[in-house]
Amino acid sequence: MSTKTNPSVYACWVAGNPTASKAPLEITNPYSNRVVGCVGQVGGDELEEALERGSQFECSLSRYERAQILSRTASIIGERREEFARGITDESGLCLRETRYEMGRGIDVLQFAAAAALEDDGSIFSCDISPQGKNRKIFSTREPLNLIAAITPFNHPFNTVIHKLAPAIAIGSPVILKPSEKTPLTALRLAEALYQAGLPGPMLSVLLGGSEEIAEPLVRDERVDLVTFTGSVKVGKQIAATAGYKKVVLELGGNDPLIVLANGDLDLAVHLAAEGAFRNAGQRCTAVKRILVEESIAEEFTHRLVAQTKKYPFGDPYLEETRLGPVIDEPAAIALETVLYDAVSRGAQILTGGKRHGALMEPTVVDQVPRDAAMVVKESFGPLAPILRVSDLEDAITVANSTRYGLSAGIVTDRLKDATRAIKRLRSGNVNVNEVPGYRIEKSPFGGIKDSGLGIKEGVLEAMKCMSNVKTFSLPWDD
Ligand code: NAP
Repeated sequence: MSTKTNPSVYACWVAGNPTASKAPLEITNPYSNRVVGCVGQVGGDELEEALERGSQFECSLSRYERAQILSRTASIIGERREEFARGITDESGLCLRETRYEMGRGIDVLQFAAAAALEDDGSIFSCDISPQGKNRKIFSTREPLNLIAAITPFNHPFNTVIHKLAPAIAIGSPVILKPSEKTPLTALRLAEALYQAGLPGPMLSVLLGGSEEIAEPLVRDERVDLVTFTGSVKVGKQIAATAGYKKVVLELGGNDPLIVLANGDLDLAVHLAAEGAFRNAGQRCTAVKRILVEESIAEEFTHRLVAQTKKYPFGDPYLEETRLGPVIDEPAAIALETVLYDAVSRGAQILTGGKRHGALMEPTVVDQVPRDAAMVVKESFGPLAPILRVSDLEDAITVANSTRYGLSAGIVTDRLKDATRAIKRLRSGNVNVNEVPGYRIEKSPFGGIKDSGLGIKEGVLEAMKCMSNVKTFSLPWDD
C-alpha cells in the first residue's frame, strides 16, 4: 500500500545546476511502501550538456583546494550524519544500524581522499646508471583523466558513490555519476554537499534517466576516459562489451565463502558467519554466501549459528533494536525465496527463518545445501546463510574456488600453516583470516577477479591511480 505523504522532490544535477526535463521517478521505502522522494529525470540533451561541460572543464584547483573541498564535505556530512543515515534507510530499507555504519565508512573515504590529495607518488630515475645512460633524470607525475563516468548500485547508496567521487576530486577529474534508480536520493544530497563545500559545478553531474538514454550512451561516449562501474556481473559484462577504447573498472558480484576449520575458534566462527551473512540484510558484494564447515564440528557449529541467528531482530528498519530490514524490493525477496526452496527440494534443510513477508526475508540458516544448488553457485543477494560440509581444508578450497566468482574469502583457523595455504590457494581478490571476507579499510586495495572483476582495484589510493595517467618528463642533470 502506497502512503504518499508530501514526498521531497529532487532534480538531477547537470554541471552544478538542478535540472529535470522528464517525468519524475518515485522512490519508495521497501518496508512500508511509503514514497520517500521523487526525482525529476533527464534525457539525451542534458547528458550531452554534462558531457560537454565536464570534458571541456580544466580543473585548476590546487592540491590544497581539492583537499579542502573533501574535508569540508566530510564536516558538512558529519554534522548531518543522522539525517543522511535516515535518508539511506528511507530509500533502501536498510536498518539504522547499517546506515549509520555506512555513513562512518563514507566519511572515512572523504578524509582519506583529502589526505591523499596532498601526497605526491611520483618517482625519480637517474639515467647515468648504465653505459647506455646519460646525465639526465626522468621524473614521473600524475595527470587527471579528462572525464570519468561512474555507475553505482543500490546496496550502499552512499559508500559506493563516494568511493568513486572522492578519489576523482582528489586527483582533479570531472565525473558524470549515474546512481541506481532504486536509491538515487543520497547521491543527489551528497552532490549538493560537495558543491556547498566549493566543488566547481562542471566537476560533477548526477544524472538519472532510462538506461538507453543515459547509461548506455554515457558508457560509449568517446569523451569519457574511464567507466568505473559497481554492480552486477550481467551489467558489468555488457559495459565491458560496449565501452570501446577506454579504461574500464568493474567491481561486480560476489559469492564469498567463509571456511570454518575444526582448529579455529568456534565462537568467533559463529559470530563471523552471522555478521557476514546478515549485515546489510545480506546485500553486500562481500557478504558470506557459503559457509564451508569441517564435518567434525558441523553439528556443534550449526547448533550455535541457529541460536545466534535467533538474536537478530528483523523487521521495521527504523527501530533501534532492528538488525535486519527488508531487501531492496519484493521481487528481490521472491528471488531469494525461489532459490531457497529450490535447494530445499533437493535435500537442504531450513533450520531457522525461511519465511518472506513482502520485501522482508527472515535471516535464514539452511544446512545440507547441495554443492551445485543455484543458491550457492550464483550470488543470492540477501540474508541466507547456507552451510556446506567439507572434509578438510583441501576440500574447502576446492568448493570455495568452484564458482565463477572471486571477490573475497574468509577463513577461521588458529593454525598458521592453514591460513597461509588458504591465502595462497583461494582464487579471490581478498582473503581475511579470522575475519569476515569483506573486511577492509577504505584506503586499502579492494576488488575481485574472475567474474567479480578484472583485478583492477578500488580503495582510495588505487582508484586515484586509475583515475589518472602517469606522465614522465626528463631533464638534463649536468653539473
Ligand atoms: P545492477 O543491476 O548491475 O545496477 C548497477 C547500476 O548499473 C545501476 O545504476 C543501473 O541503473 C546501471 N545499469 C543498468 N543497466 C545498465 C546498462 N545497460 N548500462 C549501464 N548501466 C546500467 O546492480 P544492482 O542490483 O544495483 O547492485 C547489486 C550488485 O552490485 C550485486 O551483484 C553486488 O554484488 C554488486 N556490488 C559489487 C560491489 C563490489 O565492490 N564488487 C559492491 C557493491 C555491489 P538502474 O538502477 O537505472 O537500472
